[in-house]
Amino acid sequence: MGHHYGYVSERLISGGLLPQRRRERRPDATAAVPAIEGLDVEAMRSHFDFPATGRIVTNNAATTQTPRELVDLYRRLTPWYEGVHRGQSTASQRMTERFEESYDTIATWINAPSRRTIATYRNTTEAINAVMYSLLTEFRDGDNVVTTLVEHNSNFVPWYALAREVLPRFGRSVECRVARFDHDTGQLDVDHLAGLVDSRTKLVCVSGASNFLGSKPPLGRIRAIAHAGGYLQPTGERGSLLLVDAAQLAPTTLIDVQELGVDYLAFSFHKMLAPFGVGVLYARGPLLERSLPFLYGGDMVAEGKVGPDRVEYGELPWKFAAGTPNVLGVIASAQALRLLADLALAEDPPRFESRSPLCRADVVAAMNRVNSHVAGLTDRALARTGGIPGLHTYGPPAGVVRSPLLAFTVRGTDPRDLAAALDEQGVEARAGCHCASLAHRDLGLDVGTCRLSFAAYTNNHDVDRAVDALAAIVRRG
Ligand code: PMP
Repeated sequence: MGHHYGYVSERLISGGLLPQRRRERRPDATAAVPAIEGLDVEAMRSHFDFPATGRIVTNNAATTQTPRELVDLYRRLTPWYEGVHRGQSTASQRMTERFEESYDTIATWINAPSRRTIATYRNTTEAINAVMYSLLTEFRDGDNVVTTLVEHNSNFVPWYALAREVLPRFGRSVECRVARFDHDTGQLDVDHLAGLVDSRTKLVCVSGASNFLGSKPPLGRIRAIAHAGGYLQPTGERGSLLLVDAAQLAPTTLIDVQELGVDYLAFSFHKMLAPFGVGVLYARGPLLERSLPFLYGGDMVAEGKVGPDRVEYGELPWKFAAGTPNVLGVIASAQALRLLADLALAEDPPRFESRSPLCRADVVAAMNRVNSHVAGLTDRALARTGGIPGLHTYGPPAGVVRSPLLAFTVRGTDPRDLAAALDEQGVEARAGCHCASLAHRDLGLDVGTCRLSFAAYTNNHDVDRAVDALAAIVRRG
């Protein structure tokens, strides 16, 4: 089994898809803009089709572009196309091996102890719902969940629904508490959150980075607050569970789930270069071992252990993988991580399509480069938009750690008109509430904001084009 896919790597290298391609840089209009030290952004862009269209892709917080290699990967997997975990055929065994290895790659990416702590779902939203449903039966009358006004609806509505709609039908009263944020800085009011957490707080749910304000809460402090609440979990452990929505954190920030001490962490691969369709839930192993699955059915049961009176579930992580999974999507998602490491580090040997385990040190180096690259872009955008009359940017000021996005309003202009005018100039922005409905409402921003957001492949030219277009639109009035 060991060499089944070796040919793919060889083809990739000899076909020039990996290091050679990096050397064949195809300078375009952006060539005059020096690359930020550390990450060769022009080399990275040569792996994507969108630059050739002239699009200024600045809506990356919603979804990132996917590199050619990942789309081609689907084609390359088809000669041995088969389902996983359900066949004696060599094809099924090969696919199973690739599928399962993907869990190892994902685990390494976030420094999870093993594949046993990784569950895949359709996206962040489904992963958070999986936590909600698997904890459903554990809530006791009088418990509460603490979340924040900064959350994406994906990390608020499930908790609202749990407290207000689901548990009342079981006769249980559970409160959903919501922590404030500072309107000027966009930072979560951690003191307010601390005041909401008490000995009946089963779970604290926060986003690692806001998709509207760009603020990043101090997760270490929040971990300590959750712990200090002293909630008595069914295992006898003390402290509230901590769930981090990492949908905006994972794409450009190094994540170490063990260092963060999180109980649950969720993110989506469609924001991390992979095609649509796969999200991850990391959960501490002991939690997954004892908690009920979210989905029941085939594939998640132990072989030969299903009877009318007793059903045993499969080993982790397969207990959380009911039904036929998104086999190709999971493989492509794990390969997206390997490719991102290749593109960020540009050193051989390639990690993409390699059968060797992904090296954590490479993940650290790659994500540090990506992070400092996007921080530079964000500072540049903040500095350049600062001079546009009537424009107000929300969230932390330049120089403060934030995710690579800017949400703003221009006095007297509907954000949707701004986004449409930008689009006429080829600049892709997004207007609306970005599903951060609570924070927009809290700020009285009923019509929403306009947002520009950057990715690892964004260059200075993209930022300048976007800001220049914005300035021209505002000047025109
Ligand atoms: N949380 C945050 C902070 C997000 O930005 C998003 C996506 N906009 C989500 C959750 C939901 O992600 P998905 O739509 O992939 O479930």
